[in-house]
Amino acid sequence: MLQQVNGHSSGSDAHGGESLREDLQEFLGGEAPLHQLDDLTKVNPVTLETVLRCLQARYMADTLYTSAGCTLVALNPFKPIPQLYSPELMQEYHAAPQPQKLKPHIFTVGEQTYRNVKSLIEPVNQSIVVSGESGAGKTWTSRCLMKFYAVVAASPTSWENHKIAERIEQRILNSNPVMEAFGNACTLRNNNSSRFGKFIQLQLNRAQQMTGAAVQTYLLEKTRVACQASNERNFHIFYQICKGASADERLQWHLPEGAAFFWLPNPERTLEEDCFEVTREAMLHLGIDAPTQNNIFQALAGLLHLGNTRFADSGNEAQPCPLMDDAKCSVRTSASLLRLPEDPLLETLRIRTIRAGRQQQVFRKPCSRAECDTRRDCLAKLVYARLFDWLVSVINSSICADPDSWTTFIGLLDVYGFESFPTNSLEQLCINYASEKLQQHFVAHYLRAQQEEYTAEGLEWSTVSYQDNQTCLDLIEGSPVSICSLINEECRLNRPSSAAQLQTRIESALAGSPCLGHNKLSREPSFIVVHYAGSVRYHTAGLVEKNKDPIPPELTRLLQQSQDPLLKVLFPADPEEKSQEEPSGQSRAPVLTVVSKFKASLEQLLQVLHSTTPHYIRCIKPNGQGQAQMFHQEEVLSQLEACGLVETIHISAAGFPIRVSHRNFLKRYELLRRLRPGAAPSPHGPPPDEGRSASREALGS
Ligand code: ATP
Ligand code: MG
Repeated sequence: MLQQVNGHSSGSDAHGGESLREDLQEFLGGEAPLHQLDDLTKVNPVTLETVLRCLQARYMADTLYTSAGCTLVALNPFKPIPQLYSPELMQEYHAAPQPQKLKPHIFTVGEQTYRNVKSLIEPVNQSIVVSGESGAGKTWTSRCLMKFYAVVAASPTSWENHKIAERIEQRILNSNPVMEAFGNACTLRNNNSSRFGKFIQLQLNRAQQMTGAAVQTYLLEKTRVACQASNERNFHIFYQICKGASADERLQWHLPEGAAFFWLPNPERTLEEDCFEVTREAMLHLGIDAPTQNNIFQALAGLLHLGNTRFADSGNEAQPCPLMDDAKCSVRTSASLLRLPEDPLLETLRIRTIRAGRQQQVFRKPCSRAECDTRRDCLAKLVYARLFDWLVSVINSSICADPDSWTTFIGLLDVYGFESFPTNSLEQLCINYASEKLQQHFVAHYLRAQQEEYTAEGLEWSTVSYQDNQTCLDLIEGSPVSICSLINEECRLNRPSSAAQLQTRIESALAGSPCLGHNKLSREPSFIVVHYAGSVRYHTAGLVEKNKDPIPPELTRLLQQSQDPLLKVLFPADPEEKSQEEPSGQSRAPVLTVVSKFKASLEQLLQVLHSTTPHYIRCIKPNGQGQAQMFHQEEVLSQLEACGLVETIHISAAGFPIRVSHRNFLKRYELLRRLRPGAAPSPHGPPPDEGRSASREALGS
């Protein structure tokens, strides 16, 4: 059944004769000025250049949203435009008989999805995939959509109901500042960059009221806790605590004014996101009470002090590394804030225990200075990652509706876009892998589906070539051999292998793939993947280790000894006390690697997306400086290329903008058929071939 109106899929056949006429007039009305072209499929001819010019003209006129067939292009204005997101405007889109006839807006997509789930005939779960590079406005857009649903899907009528509804919507909205405080950070590209991916499912009951939500997160960049690139910052929450703690709290958390921490670079920068009060307030709304908050912030202060724990070289392999002079106090403070015994903390950071031999004897081996640093960082990452996951689960238990109180959902996906830096590693590989998967989903759902549908309908159609990225996905994740499988294999075999060896293995095993680029110019071991959005060079140094993400068992065991109520929850004691010393040699159990965990969560996400009707919003960053009214053509051009927008427009433009199912067509034009000489009377019950032949008769074809 074809049901699509002007590129927006529609649950109902809302496009009546009136609007057909309007379309025709628009079509005959001559060329509108560029900035008035609401739909990129109407740009003539559709090329990168014309699309770019149109977007630029619109941007300069503060017109942020433009349709591009099945996609909405969203330009980041880098300045507040409150009237564009007012509750009144939300209501206008909500109340419009045909929201797609209003100016393109994220609310058009919001309303369309809302109407689609509302369809009484066949309610279908919806999803909105918001993509774009860092700083393009994905999180902003998702937040606005959440606010939109909080307004339009609020429970109406009685005060009591209203209060309950307001509470749940407010709670859902409150999850944003909390997750952003703990999961966002100031980077070179965005002062409020999400360092995790997020899929939020807004749950609706039969009356289309929002009864709850569920959040799923992906790949938190936990290394940021212990290591920040120059001119970047740690997660916002650390700055919030240091800037916003009361005098009493400063004493309790050992955070005197002006204290310096290695893990708190650039504290002098003041950001809007540094507001501790907002986070606390939102946490309260989510049911995280003051004592629990206190535990959380105290543990975070403990991590900051842990970061000031610095080691010196011992000069003797048999001796543990001594602490630097000023680090003695740090380790003590950190131990007291994390409520860990001080000596075992120091011991764990400096000494490795190994089990070896037939008798599984325990050996204690002092770590090198670099190893001590790694263990310290690992401890911090472990605590932070568990804390983040725990927070997400608390948020979920606070906002998730009972399974029997919702029937449909609208999913919002806000994930990191394609990344390519001078140095790329496992993080970028995972992010770009996710990007490829989402691009494939997009291609599968719209481009391919549309072309195949035209062929199946027997419509005349010249094929538009589009980039199918299956070859690239085969290279990354395919079987039996792929980049992921080779990196995993190295982890499994647990053999010492150099970065150069990994490069050679990848190059020789995957030489046949057209998506493995020619790796000539690099001095450092690396490989190149030709992604749909561009070629990326990945450095192989440290890749295997990152993929293993090893956690020395002594660290977990140490944390299980904490007297802190929060850490007790984060690190519960093992049910049965197994021997946990680090096994040596080949006896290691198969490791669940970062890549394999990520792949599994990605597959799960795609399964959910496949079960929904997807909608796409492509956010575009008009310039890298975050300046209003500045449009850098080169930067925008590369983003347009990266998302294959022109191909998408071509397909949508060449496609048929108005789609009506045969059955609905007949409902409206049955009279025409009956007026034809010799027409059979209308059949009772459903037409035998879904009305195809009767429709033809009506058209006289
Ligand atoms: P990342 O991948 O780094 O998380 P992102 O795509 O989520 O990036 P946002 O954080 O949503 O980017 O946007 C970056 C900044 O751009 C916002 O903090 C906000 O200041 C501004 N911005 C984005 N969209 C809008 C908008 N529609 N109106 C006003 N400002 C906006
Ligand atoms: Mg973001």
